[in-house]
Amino acid sequence: MATSTLPVTEQLVLSRMEKYDHEEVLFCHDRTTGLKAIIAIHNTTLGPALGGTRMWPYQNEAEALHDVLRLSRGMTYKSALAGLDLGGGKAVIIGDARTQKTEAMFRRFGRFVDSLNGRYITAEDVGMSTTEMVNIRKETSNVAGLPEEMGGSGDPSPVTAYGVYVGMKAAAKTAYGSDDLKGRKVSIQGAGNVGHALVGHLVKEGAEVFLTDIHPEKLDAIKREFPAVNLVAPEAIYDLDVDIYSPCALGATVNDDTLKRLKCSVIAGAANNQLANEELHGKAVMEKGILYAPDFLINAGGIINCAWERKGYNRQAAMNQTEEIYNTALRIFKASADLGIPTFLAANQAAEHRVSSMRDAGLRF
Ligand code: NAD
Repeated sequence: MATSTLPVTEQLVLSRMEKYDHEEVLFCHDRTTGLKAIIAIHNTTLGPALGGTRMWPYQNEAEALHDVLRLSRGMTYKSALAGLDLGGGKAVIIGDARTQKTEAMFRRFGRFVDSLNGRYITAEDVGMSTTEMVNIRKETSNVAGLPEEMGGSGDPSPVTAYGVYVGMKAAAKTAYGSDDLKGRKVSIQGAGNVGHALVGHLVKEGAEVFLTDIHPEKLDAIKREFPAVNLVAPEAIYDLDVDIYSPCALGATVNDDTLKRLKCSVIAGAANNQLANEELHGKAVMEKGILYAPDFLINAGGIINCAWERKGYNRQAAMNQTEEIYNTALRIFKASADLGIPTFLAANQAAEHRVSSMRDAGLRF
């Protein structure tokens, strides 16, 4: 049958998979537990596809599919750049994480993960906690992000924050000729798990930190611990006269509106998908003379931590490997400058090169 005669709904999945070269998509349904999930495996050249499960009340299936395809591809790039022997995958569960989680649902989900025979390994993402990972573990060993008392790696946020910190230092070295952050003005959006740990590194080094969050109690707690931190209102964060802007809350905060307001010369933070439109805003930051540290390059500490959990957890080894983000970032910034291309593109090309060179050498997982 010619492709064009297929109904639109069928074209939707395969043509999208073809666009970014996804290997496999598994749709999971269980009437009894109400489970509706999609697992996407983007690429397993370097190893099993590791990536978290996100539970979110998506408006419709198309939205959920779009998210899981985009996120799983991002994981291939993140792990490839971090030098991990892992591929890229991700899962989404359609539902409200506050009201719809049950043990049975996650055990059922665990069976679906298990049916992939180790090609996909899950972990936490938005809407998930270690409780769900423990329930998934009852049905499959292909899960990371378990609590420390179960031999897991616990909260990855301090490791992620360390990677963001060294990535920021590499950006400072490239932009200012020195990676010393003493006296540098840094604005951080998001006083969550990563933001909190990042404040600690920056204050210790003598940076002048400006911090915002939509929840004042989180700001108050950090202010008590680090009195030198300057607290600002959420919208004011984009208008500050700072050297470095560090998005550690939401994606898409580098956009048409904020680019008119940002006065920084470096953007380096933890949030995923910071560029509202990768092509457009990746080019725009470069033209504005801002050095953008690609998010998937410098927030890889969490996945590095999960990778060590699979090998036998060693926090110091995870931190040491995370520190390598500094050198990788320097290489990416240099390639970007040498080739005259945006940093996100230099990072994408480096990740694609690693994947294709292993595939071409017959070293497929
Ligand atoms: P978190 O939920 O602990 O913290 C996010 C914080 O951002 C919260 O305190 C929230 O109140 C705040 N926030 C939300 N909207 C905001 C707004 N408009 N303005 C200001 N603050 C706002 O999350 P986290 O674990 O600290 O992760 C931070 C970011 O880094 C997320 O985008 C996450 O996807 C990404 N990330 C985290 C890890 C990790 O290991 N935790 C790894 C990779 C990427």
